[in-house]
Amino acid sequence: MAGKKKDRCSFCGRGEDEVALLLTGLNGFICNDCVQQAERIVRESMGHGDRSRRAVGEGINLTEVPKPRDIKAFLDEYVIGQDAAKRYLSVAVYNHYKRLAQPQDDGVEIEKSNIIMVGSTGTGKTLLARTIARLLKVPFTIVDATIFTEAGYVGEDVESILTRLLQVADYDVAATERGIVFIDEIDKIARKQDNPSITRDVSGEGVQQGLLKLLEGSIVNVPPKGGRKHPDQDYIHVDTRNILFICGGAFDGIERKIAQRLNTHVVGYDSVQNQKRIDTKDLMKYIVPQDLKSFGLIPEIIGRLPVLTYLNPLDRDALRRILIEPKNSLVRQQEKLFLMDGIRLTFEDEALDYIVDKAIEYKLGARGLRSIMESIMTEAQFDAPSEKRDTLCITRQYAAEQVEKQKEKLEASAD
Ligand code: ADP
Repeated sequence: MAGKKKDRCSFCGRGEDEVALLLTGLNGFICNDCVQQAERIVRESMGHGDRSRRAVGEGINLTEVPKPRDIKAFLDEYVIGQDAAKRYLSVAVYNHYKRLAQPQDDGVEIEKSNIIMVGSTGTGKTLLARTIARLLKVPFTIVDATIFTEAGYVGEDVESILTRLLQVADYDVAATERGIVFIDEIDKIARKQDNPSITRDVSGEGVQQGLLKLLEGSIVNVPPKGGRKHPDQDYIHVDTRNILFICGGAFDGIERKIAQRLNTHVVGYDSVQNQKRIDTKDLMKYIVPQDLKSFGLIPEIIGRLPVLTYLNPLDRDALRRILIEPKNSLVRQQEKLFLMDGIRLTFEDEALDYIVDKAIEYKLGARGLRSIMESIMTEAQFDAPSEKRDTLCITRQYAAEQVEKQKEKLEASAD
């Protein structure tokens, strides 16, 4: 080493005091930033040849991943009902692992099966996605389609979906490339019916086109920090071929489209027979891809979401079960809160019925159960810990009194 001359990175020329870490080689030095840069260049120059294909399946051992039945059993612990959606999701996630672990040398490529779940708001779409995420051994993120707009407009570029996934994967690109993304409110980017792209449809078709690129599987330039793409920014290249996309949406009013289609179909020689078989109270179960098209999704997007499943509206019975049965049900949460103050909390059956009645009355669905429960319990949570009591039973009368006090607030949250 030559006297006091400081060591410098042989690539960027910065001195050892200007970088976080300087590694010493035989004839030179390299700083931490240049190591990272070099790693990225190496990955890029490898393209998506055999090596990166192998990297995608890295760490996935099929014998260790939960089987569809195990996945469904796990979902059952947290989500009430929605059997069809649970089964589809369980199979899709398991197949995702299979794709990642598939042998590369037999000429057969298992194709990706992205999913779309249709069901009214508050029926458990996001809950299903969140619950499944707890089981996963791959990066997972939830994004809301409403924040995206077409390139050039205010809002985020579709590519920033992948920024979130990268962040979850700690910027490990290989891990990101085998992740799962849940895109919520996909129905909000449907093409507006009476405005078929005469003017540019900012919130609709353009975004769908952008999304298509991701779903199809391509190398996408992702802004590392999200937001809008910017010419001066360094992009991270992410291959979306193996990323599984699960989409969810309420598709308000799609039952009408289903009914219309069923009506036109049953006009035939066997119409009477068909009409008998149709359960008009639950049309959602007859949903087919064509209905999504009538709603305003472009056929290319529908084609890239080959697994279509639905969620049932929640009836009184389901709402009551939601209050008590899930592993972290509202009742169990309240019990836990009080137990931490040494109080054994119980609810009268009639009090639980009352909560369900109010959720239905205010048309708040499962989401409303929580706000009603909070309204009922706040006062008790305030007083009980100082009262040195051992037990507390919530009666229907007490519940009704508390709800009455907060009636205006609850009514305001109803739509
Ligand atoms: P969506 O995404 O369909 O609009 P969410 O999954 O966000 O609805 O549901 C809102 C809340 O309602 C959840 O956090 C959960 O507490 C409750 N919930 C909805 N559906 C169910 C269900 N099937 N089982 C258990 N809880 C549910």
